[in-house]
Amino acid sequence: MKIKSNLEALNRVYEVYDAFSSTLDLACKEKCAHCCTSNVTLTTLEGYKIVADLIAAGKLDVIDRLKDTAGGPRFQPLLTANRMAELCAAEAKVPQEDTADEWQDCALLIDSLCTIYDLRPFGCRCFVSRKNCGETGYADIDDFTASVNTVFLQVIEHLDAEGCSGNLIDLLPFMASEDNRRAYEKGELNCEDNGLIVNWELKVLMIPPEHRARIEPILQQLREINP
Ligand code: SF4
Ligand code: SF4
Repeated sequence: MKIKSNLEALNRVYEVYDAFSSTLDLACKEKCAHCCTSNVTLTTLEGYKIVADLIAAGKLDVIDRLKDTAGGPRFQPLLTANRMAELCAAEAKVPQEDTADEWQDCALLIDSLCTIYDLRPFGCRCFVSRKNCGETGYADIDDFTASVNTVFLQVIEHLDAEGCSGNLIDLLPFMASEDNRRAYEKGELNCEDNGLIVNWELKVLMIPPEHRARIEPILQQLREINP
């Protein structure tokens, strides 16, 4: 697997997204953490990056905090974004996701601050809202931003098309194991045996017709990222 170039591409994709989100008028601010729950998902490439960076910083023990929430209520996806896009394009039946009606605070949150903020996966970066979720009880996001978020999810999954996706509580401790990282580097991870789901290549972008022209400059930046 081309880990090094894939990680460089992932960093660049994050930069493009962060530049986009910095243009939005958001209520999000430091210590606002109602969105930091046990429902975050990520890819194995993102998990590999977080673990590698934590090891380099001598802070891998941060991940031990996730043991407290292991097995607890959390969102465990059945389908990745690219698989869903393919099923929708084929007008096939899409399995109903069990959107956990119970959840816990993210175990990586301490005093309302994320302990891995600079390393956080896309599933956290794309939590944005025009109104404070603590007051409304939900994230207020415009349709175009929702389309952009979906495209980035699809591109990040495509970068890791040989890997897996899953809940952060399951995936980060899994990638913290050296044996699992070596298996990932060799492209020998078995997703399903480890409570994760298989990633898919991007074949169909889920962009509504009314957003296609406006999103084009972002797509152009993403096309220029070659792993
Ligand atoms: S998404 Fe909601 S809870 Fe999260 S930082 Fe933004 S306003 Fe706060
Ligand atoms: S990893 Fe960090 S940003 Fe993501 S949900 Fe947990 S505390 Fe929040």
